[in-house]
Amino acid sequence: MAEREWFDKDYYKLLGLSSSATDKDVTRAYRKLAKELHPDTNPGSEEKFKEISVAYDVLGDPAKRKEYDEVRRLGPAASGFGGPGAGGFNFQTGDFGDLGDLFGGLFGGGRRQRAQRGADLETALHLSFRDAVMGVTTTVNLPSNDACHTCGGRGAAPGSGFATCERCQGRGVLNDDQGPFAMSSVCPVCQGRGGRIVTPCPSCHGTGREPSSRRVNVRIPAGVIDGQRIRLKGKGNQGSHGGPAGDLFVDVHVSADAHFDRRGRDVTTVVDVPLTAAILGTTVEVPTLDGPVTLKIPAGTQPNTTMRVRGRGVPAAAKHAAGDLLVTVNVTLPKKLSKEQRTLVEKLASALHEDAT
Ligand SMILES: [Zn+2]
Ligand SMILES: [Zn+2]
Repeated sequence: MAEREWFDKDYYKLLGLSSSATDKDVTRAYRKLAKELHPDTNPGSEEKFKEISVAYDVLGDPAKRKEYDEVRRLGPAASGFGGPGAGGFNFQTGDFGDLGDLFGGLFGGGRRQRAQRGADLETALHLSFRDAVMGVTTTVNLPSNDACHTCGGRGAAPGSGFATCERCQGRGVLNDDQGPFAMSSVCPVCQGRGGRIVTPCPSCHGTGREPSSRRVNVRIPAGVIDGQRIRLKGKGNQGSHGGPAGDLFVDVHVSADAHFDRRGRDVTTVVDVPLTAAILGTTVEVPTLDGPVTLKIPAGTQPNTTMRVRGRGVPAAAKHAAGDLLVTVNVTLPKKLSKEQRTLVEKLASALHEDAT
């Protein structure tokens, strides 16, 4: 827990200060060290740079500093979270339930260190018709989960501080004192940080995340359709303080295909069959998404008859049986006949009693 960390780590010492240092002293000391230890100019100093960034994240923020001083004075158990036998809370899953709120008022912003679920992310994904039907494993680019290299994850430009959040007066929570319990909610302005960034970090623009992207493998199930939104659990940002990861929402765009279309879990296609073949019967080779199949066209097949090839649509998945391929027969007629052909057709018409007179 952060309180335990706070109790164990002397941020003042890390910045070479005494606990009576003024806010100005803190900023000055951090700025000097950040310059000396910046990994760009001083390779190998990354760990140290991060440490002082974390220290400044706390001491450079008046509300957090106050809280830190309190924890250091009273010990980690005083916050109601860090001590042994704090009881009942699952730190791993972040499942504090409403009890977390009861402790919220104790240290003002104490709740901001509770386990937090990582943020949900969303991305768009363009798929071919085939990949949408068959399912595919692909990669998407997502914003990095790592702390920004320049600001150490603070989001504020190196050497710049935080201003106290006006809405919550730096407490990170808003209290609602009505009812039998004092309930509190995370401040929507500062998201519970208690402070706001004055000068955003130039590298990450205040997000505190490394601006580079990360590639994430995603498994798209078979049978997604254009415009569908898929939720991939746990593929969002990592949680903090032991909280679970967020989810990734993927908006799927599916390109049209020249030969195939969809009707639910069935795939549709059209096959051309010449007039005489439709009359006499034939076999045709029909392409499917899964290799060609041979389809028997019975004698006397009517135009626009739909034939079903079992199991050649969307593959079977957990709750769904496999879809079928629906083949519509497009009977094609000769556009021009030679004299001889015309005579033959006239003979056929006569034999079928279809002579047009
Ligand atoms: Zn606030
Ligand atoms: Zn940054």
